[in-house]
Amino acid sequence: MIERISSKSEMRSAVAEARREGKTVGFVPTMGALHAGHVSLVHAACERCDIVVTSIFVNPTQFGQGEDFERYPRRVEGDIEMLAAEGVELVFTPSAEEMYGTGALVTVDPGSLAARWEGEVRPGHFVGVATVVTKFLSIVRPDLAFFGEKDYQQLAVVKRLTLDLDLGVGVVGCPIVRDADGLALSSRNAFLSAEERDHALALSEALEAAAQSLAWGERRGEVLAIAMREAAASRAPGALTLDYAAVVDLETLEPVAIVDRPARAIIAGRVGSTRLIDNCSLVPPTGGVA
Ligand code: AMP
Repeated sequence: MIERISSKSEMRSAVAEARREGKTVGFVPTMGALHAGHVSLVHAACERCDIVVTSIFVNPTQFGQGEDFERYPRRVEGDIEMLAAEGVELVFTPSAEEMYGTGALVTVDPGSLAARWEGEVRPGHFVGVATVVTKFLSIVRPDLAFFGEKDYQQLAVVKRLTLDLDLGVGVVGCPIVRDADGLALSSRNAFLSAEERDHALALSEALEAAAQSLAWGERRGEVLAIAMREAAASRAPGALTLDYAAVVDLETLEPVAIVDRPARAIIAGRVGSTRLIDNCSLVPPTGGVA
């Protein structure tokens, strides 16, 4: 039976009880409107931990002015049914007041990892993410927390945050779940018209183009990024407004000059009024052409 909890103190007690029974705790934070990507995190958590806690919280502090906080899809009841069917024991659905009270002053600054890419396009976003994740981890105190590679920069920020602040929580990154045609699953895909959804494939196809160029022997990061921009522009001429397309280091997220070890291709942009992000791993072929 799944138990829905909305207060921080009840969540602490419920987890403390599980711990007294000797159970390990897995945590999957989400903003709800759940899809198979979220479910894959839950499955990973169920495999590795005795009980799984999922949070559903559309965190206001990680949205900027004019972003989609108000229209972000919310369907908590359906989400809880879905989580119950997947074997989640505890679902945490705090209100913004419960999470932040009225006088919170302290925030968590993730530093240089947040300066580029999403952080540049969405000022303040990662302070909001780092702060809410720190709060969740200190309320739930899981053994392991599960995050999707879909939000690659977020995953990098959270890994460093748990390390640098000695939170004592293991962070597990889980692979991106995609639709059959390659589009990465996202709660925001619900905003796309059929035509926009088609244009949105420009993102995953641009990543494919980078992977393909690398396989053919191109190792210069900037040239691979140009291949991504060209592929995106030709797939959806005029329909995708790119924010960035880049090849970056797995941990620092700084641009990579030459891909001589595994790196990450990252891309983001807007289709109509919907902002989408995607990324993929880039592994240089061994013994191939220089
Ligand atoms: P969100 O509800 O969008 O904040 O996402 C909650 C968690 O699910 C984050 O760790 C995301 O990275 C992860 N996630 C979202 N979409 C996907 C996906 N398509 N594949 C894997 N993980 C995902």
